[in-house]
Amino acid sequence: METRGRMTIDAQGDALLLAGSIDESAALHELIGRATAGRLVLDLGGVTFINSLGVRDWIRMQAAAQKADLKVELRRVAEPLVHQLNMIIATRGNAHVTSFYAPYACDACGREESLLIDAVINAAALVKLEPPAMTCPECAAQMAFNDFPERYFSFLSS
Ligand SMILES: [Zn+2]
Repeated sequence: METRGRMTIDAQGDALLLAGSIDESAALHELIGRATAGRLVLDLGGVTFINSLGVRDWIRMQAAAQKADLKVELRRVAEPLVHQLNMIIATRGNAHVTSFYAPYACDACGREESLLIDAVINAAALVKLEPPAMTCPECAAQMAFNDFPERYFSFLSS
């Protein structure tokens, strides 16, 4: 996974893969023109950072998508973006989040990991603020959710 550098956009299957830092150079408005059949699918698993100008452009992109009547799906939303979705309601737009990363920690071996949660399969549990059970890839013990569910999952209840 990329850890620094400007955001890149790559088409992969039906999705546009965003990676790197989202800042004022990210040209998020270009995404709107790359929607197909009224759908804009963004894979955000490689996003490592977003600054305040990136957030501003992200909100504009969401507004433009709504204006253009696009169905926006966000997949594999990385933790830095989940924090923005939780803090700033306008960043959510009309987007549908189908999966996202969340912090887990293993009490047995100390491993900390960002794990992918399927928001569709786990929808009922997430509404009740119950983090899905995850197994430690290191020692196979059950991992504990490493944030406050009522805070981390709040973007799902908009
Ligand atoms: Zn472990």
